[in-house]
Amino acid sequence: MMNETSKPLNFIEKIIAEDLESGKITQVKTRFPPEPNGYLHIGHAKSIVLNFGLAKRFGGSCNLRFDDTNPEKEDVEYVASIKEDVRWLGFQWHGDVRFTSGYFDQLHEWAIYLIKEGKAYVCDLSQEEAREYRGTLTEAGKNSPYRERSIDENLQLFEKMRLGEFDEGACSLRVKIDMAHPNMQMRDPVIYRIKKQAHHQTGDKWCIYPSYDFAHGQGDAIEGITHSICTLEFEEHRPLYDWFIENLPVPSTPHQYEFSRLNVNYTVTSKRKLKQLVDENHVDGWDDPRMPTISGMRRRGFTPQAIREFCDMAGVTRTDGVVDVSMLEFAIREDLNANAVRAMCVLRPLKVVLTNYPEDKTETMMAPGHPQRDDLGTRALPFSREIFIDQDDFREAANKKYKRLVIGKRVRLRNAYVIEADEAIKNEQGKIIEVHARVIEDTVGKNPADGIKPKGVIHWVSADMHVDCEVRLYDRLFTEEAPDAGGKDFLESINPDSLEIVTGCKGEVTLANARLTDHFQFEREGYFILDSSYSEPDQPVFNRTIGLRDSWNNNPALK
Ligand code: ATP
Ligand code: MG
Repeated sequence: MMNETSKPLNFIEKIIAEDLESGKITQVKTRFPPEPNGYLHIGHAKSIVLNFGLAKRFGGSCNLRFDDTNPEKEDVEYVASIKEDVRWLGFQWHGDVRFTSGYFDQLHEWAIYLIKEGKAYVCDLSQEEAREYRGTLTEAGKNSPYRERSIDENLQLFEKMRLGEFDEGACSLRVKIDMAHPNMQMRDPVIYRIKKQAHHQTGDKWCIYPSYDFAHGQGDAIEGITHSICTLEFEEHRPLYDWFIENLPVPSTPHQYEFSRLNVNYTVTSKRKLKQLVDENHVDGWDDPRMPTISGMRRRGFTPQAIREFCDMAGVTRTDGVVDVSMLEFAIREDLNANAVRAMCVLRPLKVVLTNYPEDKTETMMAPGHPQRDDLGTRALPFSREIFIDQDDFREAANKKYKRLVIGKRVRLRNAYVIEADEAIKNEQGKIIEVHARVIEDTVGKNPADGIKPKGVIHWVSADMHVDCEVRLYDRLFTEEAPDAGGKDFLESINPDSLEIVTGCKGEVTLANARLTDHFQFEREGYFILDSSYSEPDQPVFNRTIGLRDSWNNNPALK
């Protein structure tokens, strides 16, 4: 059964549609198989959207399986963050979370099965020797001198490996395929190694661990995965995965399909490199709003809808390419423009005294929550004799292009009066510290009666009634388009100006009720969200998710 949708099918969807039609499968089953050795990033989002999306589109199901075969680098912290990120992106896995470690008993049995079939042997070659025996792309390898051990000897040795009687590296279990095979993956690969290392799920139960290659496809078979989708670098491993499936009594036959990784410019998407940024304190943790991690994007104020939309826009192909980060930014702006509540916040305040406005008077100005969306309500904004405007919105004198406040000229205060500036008050250093201006009467929602219309509109907040806050402005984390291309040291192109902290900002009163999940458009400044780490109840910190326009201007197609 296929859900209604107008989007054309990508190549994997076509395969699934055919398999359903021909009766090869009755229900599609996919999985997202992260290794819990880091936080998920935008590339993983792509894989999540694809795998969960396929299940949704074709009325099937998708598992979440932690491919946790390498205890050294894994941790429960990552398990928890990955679950949270998948859910936040809007997906729910089928049944319980799975762990490859949950299949260790079965995999161990299958290893013994292969030994008994004469298809696996314990090899004592050191890693270095094994590399020499392996040959090269142009040269066949040589058989290991341990390849012809008897089944009984292999069974005994493998059991001793399991009991911890050998040191790490002393031996390994290998499958017997073909040392002259043109595909290097098929030259008797290792399927079990000794690692005297506790595991985050199985504790001290094991001191031998299956290789990723031995575990991955069998995990799929155990779960009844019909289409096991992965990135192109595993294409070469497919014959090996198929060999395991053919040579083991597995309960089902998964088929692997590869698609190209999502690469985004001005970004690194390697868990190892992201971890380095965190470990060396180049950023403020995995969820730093500049990180391409899902948790970083969440803290920054990106939305799940926009990330999903971006992944769809990027498409599913088998051709490697780099997607422009402005495409992601475009998706974010589209979503936030449609859904973010409007607010005013003055980032760099300059006081304006409205000299003809009574000192004891206040009015309430009404403003829409969103210009096109009545469902987002209205905002009540106190107006008083003293207000703040942005320092950039006032000049003593300016040419006609400057459509803000100038001495002797008029400007409209957004949702309030037209005012005219009279005088700039300066301190001893000559810096403007205050502006004296006048309200033009009866101009709320109307043009001035004298016909002298203001040229521009600026934002403001009451000096008496506002929310003091801090604002964090972000720019791209890297100044180079391909920070890690060709073995370059990606740390060298870290943008030193990627974070600007602006304190002493003045937000409108409605921001006092901001919740962590609320998105705002601060008019004329961009889209903002409360920061989940630094905000205090009486001192909110807002992250700028993104500016109103693409200031990098590097993608004319999207303008
Ligand atoms: P890294 O190289 O950053 O460590 P990984 O691929 O080793 O990433 P896994 O935890 O194994 O990380 O990835 C889980 C799933 O996400 C895999 O199926 C993998 O193919 C997919 N994936 C990872 N990176 C990308 C990417 N950039 N684009 C699309 N899919 C990706
Ligand atoms: Mg991987």
